[in-house]
Amino acid sequence: MLPCTAFSLQSTPDKALLLHLESLRGNESFTVADIVRYLAEVLARGIFRDLGYPSLFTFCVERLGYSRGSAYRRCEAARILGAHPEIYELIKGGKLQLCTVAEISKVVDEKKRGELLKAAVGKSREEAAVLVARELPARSTGSDFIDAKGVEAGSNKMVYRFSVELDEECMRLYGVAKEIVGHLPAKEVLRRVLKEFIGRRKEVKRMVKESLEGSGRYIPKSVRVEVGRRDGGQCTFVAEDGKRCTERHGLEIDHVMPYGLGGGNERENLRLLCRAHNRLMAERVFGREKIRAVGG
Ligand SMILES: [Zn+2]
Repeated sequence: MLPCTAFSLQSTPDKALLLHLESLRGNESFTVADIVRYLAEVLARGIFRDLGYPSLFTFCVERLGYSRGSAYRRCEAARILGAHPEIYELIKGGKLQLCTVAEISKVVDEKKRGELLKAAVGKSREEAAVLVARELPARSTGSDFIDAKGVEAGSNKMVYRFSVELDEECMRLYGVAKEIVGHLPAKEVLRRVLKEFIGRRKEVKRMVKESLEGSGRYIPKSVRVEVGRRDGGQCTFVAEDGKRCTERHGLEIDHVMPYGLGGGNERENLRLLCRAHNRLMAERVFGREKIRAVGG
């Protein structure tokens, strides 16, 4: 038999054991609600960036030690809290589960979200998932279908059969496109629309590149590759305590001395930054309000 210590529960009677457990469970909801409230504030202030994290999610995993699933649920709830402060009391009272909030966060429409949060009070995770599933657009059924049909009659060119399910809006757009190109077969409508779309995109890309080259802001690909290699394909932001950001995705080339302030394109003035830290550096130079105002 184990020695009875102050922390041992062996001698606690059943009734007291269950009472304590239930009270602890209540406290757990209190703590979770407060954690979400604090995270929402950390998010609003963007403090995680100063500490060397690319996102609130990474901050939760790396700094607070949450599993990815737990971090995801807390971050989603923190994101929703700003627009729906009522969820704080609901989570605290154990009437709304975090997993339910995370599920509802998938719904984009803010008004709909509010309605779902109201409807989900007191519901189990499964019941809430059913409510949300009704609101989310149906997942692609994978009905797009392309197969090689064979060789076109009288030539040696390949032809393909292509079938796709269209929703109402898409069907309406197709109808408009057909009007414009003049009631040709579907194949011709598609050909013209695609050609024009791709042509325009190329044109816009060319214009942007030319204007950047003309202004001297354009960074040649070879330099970008070299900077990426030098920085090890990782965000170079380092927090005051020496912690370097671990982000490796969606990195951007940043001018250490901003281009607008006379910084050039030499390698020494370039570095890799994640989106969050690129924005943070811009805020530090130009001020948060100004960067917000230009939608940066
Ligand atoms: Zn970063």
